Amino acid sequence: MSTAQPPTTAIIGAGISGLSLALALNQQSIPCTVYESRSAPLNIGGAITLFPNGLRVLDALGIYSVIKPQGYSFDALYFRDAAGNLTETHEFGSEAKYGYSALRVYRHVLINALLAALKDRGVRVEYGRKFSHVITDDEGITFAFTDGSQEPAAILVGADGIHSTVRKVLYPDLGPPSFVGQIAMSAAVPTAQLNLPAGADLREHLPATFVSQQHGAFVMAPQGPDGSEVIIAKQKRVPVDPRREGLAAMLANKEAHIALLRENADAFPDIVKNAVSDIPIDQLFVWPFYVVPRLERWASWEKGRGRVVIVGDAAHAIPPSSGQGVNQALEDVYMLSLLLGNKGVDEAEPLGFWQKYRQARVDRILKLVEQIDLRRLPTDEVEEKVVKEPFELGWLYGTDLRGDVDAWVRDNAKE
Ligand SMILES: Cc1cc2nc3c(=O)[nH]c(=O)nc-3n(C[C@H](O)[C@H](O)[C@H](O)COP(=O)(O)OP(=O)(O)OC[C@H]3O[C@@H](n4cnc5c(N)ncnc54)[C@H](O)[C@@H]3O)c2cc1C
Repeated sequence: MSTAQPPTTAIIGAGISGLSLALALNQQSIPCTVYESRSAPLNIGGAITLFPNGLRVLDALGIYSVIKPQGYSFDALYFRDAAGNLTETHEFGSEAKYGYSALRVYRHVLINALLAALKDRGVRVEYGRKFSHVITDDEGITFAFTDGSQEPAAILVGADGIHSTVRKVLYPDLGPPSFVGQIAMSAAVPTAQLNLPAGADLREHLPATFVSQQHGAFVMAPQGPDGSEVIIAKQKRVPVDPRREGLAAMLANKEAHIALLRENADAFPDIVKNAVSDIPIDQLFVWPFYVVPRLERWASWEKGRGRVVIVGDAAHAIPPSSGQGVNQALEDVYMLSLLLGNKGVDEAEPLGFWQKYRQARVDRILKLVEQIDLRRLPTDEVEEKVVKEPFELGWLYGTDLRGDVDAWVRDNAKE
């Protein structure tokens, strides 16, 4: 057990949820420590897309101005058919409407910015500490790590991702996340390889999803501040969970991975054929898609007992096709920190408000994901289920979490 002052809040997991929660709590003057099982910050997975709703949170945390110059800003994603004709445009952001364009930024850029801000503020992030279980939650919590060490906390937050161990404290009988029968495969190639017309404005071409009626979709999105690199990705139905049935073998076989990315490229426009013409083997990824069932509660919050909360993917894994996983995690942690920082309302109620508010948004996003996924799969599988109207996304991008929390606090303040 460490001899330092016991933290009031222990955050398990130094992914984007855990680190941003630590920063948000620090902003509310709530002390915390982050414990991460890995030995060092994770540096994989290419870039992530941050939407206005997530960027607004990062702005409030002082991180947006740090990452913006390191990311690729854009407002729209284009859907094109197999001949390259534009079929739909999806809004991803707009400075005029929401205050922010969308930003594609390497995951490690965001993680490093959060770590630097935490270091500046003296918030501890301890690596090589894998949470195991809660020992007692009578008055505050004492919990154990897999190496047998222990720590105390008043609040234990599980920001430990889709395969969360802290979730088991709330749901001891819940099975592992289920595989949804789809994987994404991706690689990164130089944008120059696409052979766009000389002088072309990259933002008029990409990011784009090319949809073939027979072969599904091929996604391309620029990354790096100048868009000089493009991620190329395919979503594919697979009958069995590749993590159980040989994901390691699949990852090891780089040539097979490249062959899958190239499969049926002839059915797509030249830009796709060019993209797959030369695929470097050092940036290949396979991501199986998992879901956790809709959970009744994300917190155990009884007076006089240790409290447990789960956030981000641990609470509500959202299929990656929405691009909202990180953005929703940022909404979770910012709103939670505002509510925990407010002392004017009775203890447990803010958590009930938080989950109801957050769950309603997650549910709406899951419906959106269903539609996005339908557009990315071969038409014969899905034709009759596709909604043709363009998406209206003001509810998603324009949300004012601080305003909504302030209004709720005003309405629920103790006499
Ligand atoms: C292919 C793909 C593309 C994506 N693209 C986007 C995108 O463009 N935009 C977007 O918003 N989202 C995207 N997502 C989703 C996004 O990656 C996740 O929603 C997000 O990473 C969740 O963050 P998290 O911090 O909750 O969990 P994680 O990132 O999984 O972090 C959990 C952390 O907890 C640690 N941990 C786990 N168990 C323990 C333990 N027992 N003790 C201590 N530490 C532990 C882990 O090592 C890890 O560091 C994408 C996901 C995939 C798969």
